[in-house]
Amino acid sequence: MPTAEATAAVLERYEAVIGVEVHCQLKTASKMFCSCSTAYDGARPNSHTCPVCLGLPGALPVMNKRAVELVMATGAAIGAQTPAATRWDRKNYFYPDLPKGYQISQYDLPLASAGRLTFDTSEGPFTVQITRAHLEEDTAKLVHGEGPNGERLSLVDFNRSGVPLMEIVTEPDIRTAEQARRYGEELQLLLRTVGASDADMERGQMRVEANVSLRPRGTEAFGTRVEVKNMNSFRSVERAVAFEIERQAALLDAGETLRMETRGWADDRGETYHMRSKETSDDYRYFPEPDLPPLRVDAAWLAEIRADLGELPAARRVRYEEALGLSAYDAAVLVADADAGRLFEATLAAAPGLDAKPVANWVTGDYLRLRNAAAEPVSVDPAQLARLVALVGEGTINRSSGRDVLDAHAATGEAVDAIVARLGLRQISDAGALGSVVDEVLAANPAAVADFRAGKGQAIGFLIGQVMKATKGQANAAVATAAIRERLGADGGGK
Ligand code: ADP
Ligand code: MG
Ligand code: ZN
Repeated sequence: MPTAEATAAVLERYEAVIGVEVHCQLKTASKMFCSCSTAYDGARPNSHTCPVCLGLPGALPVMNKRAVELVMATGAAIGAQTPAATRWDRKNYFYPDLPKGYQISQYDLPLASAGRLTFDTSEGPFTVQITRAHLEEDTAKLVHGEGPNGERLSLVDFNRSGVPLMEIVTEPDIRTAEQARRYGEELQLLLRTVGASDADMERGQMRVEANVSLRPRGTEAFGTRVEVKNMNSFRSVERAVAFEIERQAALLDAGETLRMETRGWADDRGETYHMRSKETSDDYRYFPEPDLPPLRVDAAWLAEIRADLGELPAARRVRYEEALGLSAYDAAVLVADADAGRLFEATLAAAPGLDAKPVANWVTGDYLRLRNAAAEPVSVDPAQLARLVALVGEGTINRSSGRDVLDAHAATGEAVDAIVARLGLRQISDAGALGSVVDEVLAANPAAVADFRAGKGQAIGFLIGQVMKATKGQANAAVATAAIRERLGADGGGK
């Protein structure tokens, strides 16, 4: 992968122009135009098929209403427009993964158009305009392998054929590899929030393609674009785009002209490779699908879907920051991580009035540390976490004991109060009890006492350390400090 410095040097001379196309499988129980189940993961090849999704002659499609609603919901979430009436179009091309010889898609009347998505980057917030989102059907899957006699074979698995697929296309607004990655991450979060798709990249539920071109800085006209595909993680998206920018810059610097092509990303080699050349415009001979009626989207239907959207990620981050006082970092983590977000919300719900900030700290810090280190799911009871936050907040136990309590609770489910009692973690906050310990420590350390009296304020740190040692770490530091200062005379030192 090109180093950040190398990429930065290239970007002084050239500006990258990037548009992203995302295909995602919609979260429906059945396929787009037949009643076959979409739950084919791990199933025997071709076990989830029927005449419709096998493309047999004479089989007629029936529209899946739920899939349409999921695209409408996504459109509403990105502030897109939805036409009052749309229809289905045939996109004709020949490839073995497409049994009918055409894909049912949407051509000039997409279910959503002119939306946008805003997300944070290391250089601040960035907004990408989304050209369109339309509905189509997924293709079958080709499996290339070897036959019993060593011959090369390609097999077709039709389980995926006809799964509802949403294509979301951006304007060529993106300028950096990081923006491309962040767009994908934010879109995934949005798709999951509205329930449109599980959008798992590794499982092929979300496929990201980046169109990349360069132009000399200060010029307007777009350069020749290259389409990059086969990235199976957001990290790969960023790496692939950065690589492609470097590669194109080197060619342009050498005086070469680029050609329109589709390139694949080889993650292990960290480079893109030529897959096929691309014509300026594919001749798909689109025409309206005669086997399906046009689709009317009445205002009431759209309003119902809008009303059901729930709280979107951007609004939730604003609420966390502005209403609950969380840092931008904590808000971003809690919204991006579903487990953490759920635990945070449930903990606040379990203890009305509890300060949200320490709860966020415990969840984004200690809970995620535990969860990420564990091989198995970690279970933390929200009511118990609320109790723990309260105990630390009121000084009954200190922060570091609190961490041990959380670990023990997550491991066994034992109640927080029981753990505190069993391990004897209660802080000594009682001024009388601590006072006698402080007296002993002062008597045993005359040199430090003299230092403090001579104006060396830092000597108090040593004395508190001795109190902690004497109480096996259970002294309430604030109470102990006050007791020491009181005995030595508050103005006796400590600048
Ligand atoms: P295709 O049918 O080849 O996929 P589209 O018109 O759907 O073409 O555009 C694909 C993507 O390419 C869009 O996201 C668009 O913004 C982007 N794009 C178009 N021109 C350029 C360019 N010169 N450089 C980078 N991206 C571009
Ligand atoms: Mg396209
Ligand atoms: Zn079917």
